[in-house]
Amino acid sequence: MSLIIAKDICHVYDSGERAYEALKKVNMSISEGEFVALVGPSGSGKSTLLSILGVLTKASSGIVQIDGIDVTNLGEEERARFRREYVGFVFQQFHLMPYLTALENVMLPLVMTSISKKEQKEKARLALAKVGLEEKGHRLPAQLSGGEQERVAIARAIVNEPPLLLADEPTGALDVANGNRVMALLTDLNKQGHTIVMVTHNPAYEPLAHRVIRLQDGAIVEGSGSLTRPGEV
Ligand code: ADP
Ligand code: ADP
Repeated sequence: MSLIIAKDICHVYDSGERAYEALKKVNMSISEGEFVALVGPSGSGKSTLLSILGVLTKASSGIVQIDGIDVTNLGEEERARFRREYVGFVFQQFHLMPYLTALENVMLPLVMTSISKKEQKEKARLALAKVGLEEKGHRLPAQLSGGEQERVAIARAIVNEPPLLLADEPTGALDVANGNRVMALLTDLNKQGHTIVMVTHNPAYEPLAHRVIRLQDGAIVEGSGSLTRPGEV
């Protein structure tokens, strides 16, 4: 079953003086359980597309459907609620709160929920264990290596068990050894059921994905996936 369907996605950045068409009629589908690498030259639209798939950015036009829900016309509040439930984000910059411990950072997405503090802690511990950091929950980000900080960020992204995990250059700030470790972790999380879309500049990681979607000048030139049965969307 398709977890993500994107139809005729166009995106224009309009700075007033001139408009830039970052995505031009992008069509794609991603199945539940897939691990997709989103690649292409700098400026080809990868981050924009990822942000649209993650319901952070509203496309200028086109339709996005995730897990059977048409998110195209949701209001800001509904989009935020949708993101909390469905999407985990990992970025190149770890975006950890420097004055919170690793465990507290992982708990952040749960703080707004009705889950009890005790259960929040348990879930956060479990997520830290999944990334191999159960012993380091009490540390501040500055007391962790870069590789460990990225793994904390991944634990935070999955603590809610979102069906969709989006990663924008998750290994971009890491050395080879830590990059490989993060990739092994993502592969493992995918096997545990998270659908993953990952932007990467590293061709060595492309074979780890089930599929490579390649963008060029705002259009998909490879790997869009089979689009839908008649009548869908
Ligand atoms: P990639 O992730 O492949 O490097 P992006 O999606 O970041 O590409 O950007 C696609 C194009 O849109 C680029 O030419 C970029 O300069 C432009 N762009 C991205 N963000 C903005 C913005 N906020 N305002 C104007 N142009 C932007
Ligand atoms: P990595 O192999 O992940 O790059 P490092 O060689 O940077 O790890 O660090 C080795 C160990 O030292 C890690 O377990 C990490 O937790 C710890 N460590 C790294 N930086 C700091 C720091 N600034 N303060 C305390 N412990 C640290």
